[in-house]
Amino acid sequence: MRKFATASEDTMQDTSYDAIVVGSGISGGWAAKELTEKGLRVLLLERGRNVEHIKDYVNATKAPWQYPHRGGRTRAMEEAYPVLKRDYPLNEKNLEFWASDKDNPYTEVKRFDWFRGYQVGGRSLMWGRQSYRWSEFDFEANARDGIATDWPIRYADLAPWYDHIEPHAGISGSLEGLPQLPDGKFQPAMPLNCGEELVAGRLSKLYDGRRRIIPGRVANLTRELTGRSACQYRDACWLGCPYGAYFSTQSSTLPAAAKTGRLTLKPFAIVTEVLYDRDRKRATGVRVLDAVSDQTTDHSARVIFLCASTLNSTWLLMRSATDVWPGGLGSSSGELGHNLMDHHFRVGAGGKLEGMEDRYYNGRRPTGFYIPRYRNLFGDKRAYLRGFGYQGSAGRQGWSRAVAELGVGAAFKDSLSQPGDWSIGATAFGEMLPNHANRISLDETKRDKWGLPVLKIDCATGENERSMRKDMMTDMADMLEQCGAKGVYTYDNEYFPGMGIHEMGTARMGRDPKTSVLNAHNQVWDAPNVFVTDGSCMASAACQNPSLTYMALTARAADFAVRELNRRNI
Ligand SMILES: Cc1cc2nc3c(=O)[nH]c(=O)nc-3n(C[C@H](O)[C@H](O)[C@H](O)COP(=O)(O)OP(=O)(O)OC[C@H]3O[C@@H](n4cnc5c(N)ncnc54)[C@H](O)[C@@H]3O)c2cc1C
Ligand code: SF4
Repeated sequence: MRKFATASEDTMQDTSYDAIVVGSGISGGWAAKELTEKGLRVLLLERGRNVEHIKDYVNATKAPWQYPHRGGRTRAMEEAYPVLKRDYPLNEKNLEFWASDKDNPYTEVKRFDWFRGYQVGGRSLMWGRQSYRWSEFDFEANARDGIATDWPIRYADLAPWYDHIEPHAGISGSLEGLPQLPDGKFQPAMPLNCGEELVAGRLSKLYDGRRRIIPGRVANLTRELTGRSACQYRDACWLGCPYGAYFSTQSSTLPAAAKTGRLTLKPFAIVTEVLYDRDRKRATGVRVLDAVSDQTTDHSARVIFLCASTLNSTWLLMRSATDVWPGGLGSSSGELGHNLMDHHFRVGAGGKLEGMEDRYYNGRRPTGFYIPRYRNLFGDKRAYLRGFGYQGSAGRQGWSRAVAELGVGAAFKDSLSQPGDWSIGATAFGEMLPNHANRISLDETKRDKWGLPVLKIDCATGENERSMRKDMMTDMADMLEQCGAKGVYTYDNEYFPGMGIHEMGTARMGRDPKTSVLNAHNQVWDAPNVFVTDGSCMASAACQNPSLTYMALTARAADFAVRELNRRNI
């Protein structure tokens, strides 16, 4: 791979660039790729350490017994990570990819689980890779329901950009022709296993194809791409992939940007402010705090992309141009910081499948099945707005089914070498409505390790989500029973905002500067050379996983920015 300049090696010895990108996660990686490929000299600023592709995936090929605690968590880890410990992310295997809770505190007015990855690659290293397009229904939703503000774009505006990003990111999936979940430019799907196929056939028949179990669409390659191998079916993705077989900044967008020779990457660079010239009504650059030396440097550029992740980009805006707007850059609408959303989940059902005891499957497929949304669509009408999709899988239980048992003897051990029962289950991911009351603000009373004020998060689910959750749970159980599953059970494991790790909103796009922070091209209304393309721009949440949409929005905004630069409009 061609090497890019790190800041210290940058031959220009300059603090001036064509473009600055803040954050090197899923959105920032795409911004860097698109802008460098269109000819711009780009400075990519990342608050965390560098993580080099392959070399720094230190646990990628370890077996469970090679970890001191078999990959689990310890009391010391729980003390060091009071937020991360609240859910599955805290474990010994990829702890080095998670931001320190102690160094990076925040204030919870109400419980909000904020799971962050502060390093080159951001959370592209640990994400679940489920990748679904949003549809016309999603972009029309606010207008149709008369809530929040209308999206300033429609599916047709984004479709060419989904087409643009999918082949490079490498999304595998099946073509289904569903209007609520548009098909894309996919690699062949990772197929359903025979248990899932059985239930998929029954479900489709029961509902005349209107409800479907389809293979999870996932950013894991089933065909190799340049510099990346096809997936080896190890299901070890969140350790970093030595084959480059899942999409991450490291495997996909960073090498492409580096190849142009126009990228400078600076890790340990905490951007603390966007510098704004009130006379020219333009941003001039950014202020950077070196996370190691504590020194401050200013960098200038003609265009700035904020891709620091949903809440962090809004934190930056709130700290910028406060001499003009006390609430920060983009706050003139009164909407900056508001309308925080997530996907609510941890609710679903499961059961057993009978009659397939002679059937098995190969490999450890790093995805499962998906049931696209069917609620409040095509004539269905519920007491709540919007809908949900299910993510699940079927499989045969392994030896670990005996761990909780007190079994002894040879016969018992022999029985564990045989595959166990077939089980099937699915968890729903539901849309959370935009709500002005769900907000973030700066907490000037609390500081992080670098003395910077932290975020105060005040967010809760509402009646719409509570009512939807009942349906999310009972409907899965109902479908499983109708499809012949036995011993069907339901669960609602309680959800707090943030747990979905799909935080969205707080700097929404819109049609009117009086009610939104960004315009239809992700430009801050009040500073046309500042673009915000991560999840903060979302005007509603849909129920599909959001990161594919951030990629498409980022590529679209980068294309627009370069055209505007060339026309000398920004
Ligand atoms: C376990 C897990 C599973 C997930 N599963 C899925 C899934 O299946 N599908 C899906 O669509 N999404 C999934 N997500 C969510 C997905 O990871 C995020 O939506 C996505 O990473 C957001 O991209 P981003 O670029 O906005 O932010 P990030 O990827 O978080 O990157 C932001 C970067 O900005 C840097 N940064 C922050 N502040 C500053 C600053 N002030 N200065 C400089 N740099 C800064 C950070 O260090 C970080 O590297 C999952 C996330 C996790 C953790
Ligand atoms: S399952 Fe596939 S994509 Fe995931 S780490 Fe293994 S080889 Fe890489």
